[in-house]
Amino acid sequence: MSFRAHLLEETDGKVAGGLVELEESRLPEGEVTVAVEWSTLNYKDGMVLKGIGRLVRSYPHVPGVDFAGTVEASSDPRYKAGDKVVLTGWRVGEWHWGGYAEKARVKADWLVPLPAGLTTRQAMAIGTAGFTAMLAVLDLERHGLAPGEERPVLVTGAAGGVGSVAVAILATLGYRVAASTGRAETHGYLRDLGAAEIVERAELAEAPSRPLDKERWAACVDAVGGTTLAHVLSQMGYGRSIAAVGLAGGNRLETTVLPFLLRGVKLLGIDSVLRPYADRVAAWQRLVADLPLDRLEAMTSEAGLGELPALADAILAGQIQGRKVIDVRRY
Ligand code: NAP
Repeated sequence: MSFRAHLLEETDGKVAGGLVELEESRLPEGEVTVAVEWSTLNYKDGMVLKGIGRLVRSYPHVPGVDFAGTVEASSDPRYKAGDKVVLTGWRVGEWHWGGYAEKARVKADWLVPLPAGLTTRQAMAIGTAGFTAMLAVLDLERHGLAPGEERPVLVTGAAGGVGSVAVAILATLGYRVAASTGRAETHGYLRDLGAAEIVERAELAEAPSRPLDKERWAACVDAVGGTTLAHVLSQMGYGRSIAAVGLAGGNRLETTVLPFLLRGVKLLGIDSVLRPYADRVAAWQRLVADLPLDRLEAMTSEAGLGELPALADAILAGQIQGRKVIDVRRY
């Protein structure tokens, strides 16, 4: 049986891809074969599609760091044909063939059952980006964030995938959300997702002029990193936490230890890729509870496999609004 896939090849150090028909025998080893229904576009997918960051170990390669679909065959007792499943992380789409294909074969350990209450499309509208936003909120809660905050919770890179889901969850939980964006055309979109105030990206983008500034934020989900993260560190309220999620604005962090020593600020690192199973199931349950499906739909648009090269450029340029689901059965 053959299936369609977006296959990346490397020629003379350049990575390019396109639609191919592959025999099922080409699938890698794994206990569970899945008929993929939906995948998604994350920042990391953009890097893999463009061959940036040496994320892929060998070519030819099927990218796509997430997928959701139906089990076709399983040699693992936890899954049987017909089960709906979701995969995020575990270096799938990087070291292992991923979700931009009609079929995938993976380790059973990497899957979670599709959470009750979500379709496979909705699970991918959430995807790694939304799952990571939820992990960030959970960690902020674990470190003291609770309803009743006077100051706003800041989300940077707010109109992107992680940011949009973080805004919607935090607003639903009752926080006053300050959404930082560099795109004026997204202000209405972010307010519709629940943002109470908009912060211009430029206001936070420069390195801070002093190590401790006016205390402004009750917490922060930061998708941007770099000088933005350094700036936000100087403005955190006493004892408050930042969940460091992303590097859309740079991976260097130049700061002082003063926010940590004099204000007890906590910097929480968020990794979604190697999260243990129990954490994953808990995060998906919270997504079902705390992310309204109408807000999820409002931030989601669709594309087919043939649009991936253009979408890779767009997400790396910070031009994708919200979440993009990939219909792997559509070119
Ligand atoms: P995305 O949709 O492209 O969102 C990133 C957003 O960052 C953009 O929409 C833009 O928001 C802002 N941005 C882009 N370039 C910028 C720049 N030069 N300076 C400041 N802001 C900039 O990507 P995503 O999928 O949400 O991922 C966001 C980040 O999280 C990425 O760095 C990704 O690698 C990381 N991530 C990490 C994990 C993890 O496990 N830790 C998981 C998923 C994603 P505005 O237009 O609103 O300003």
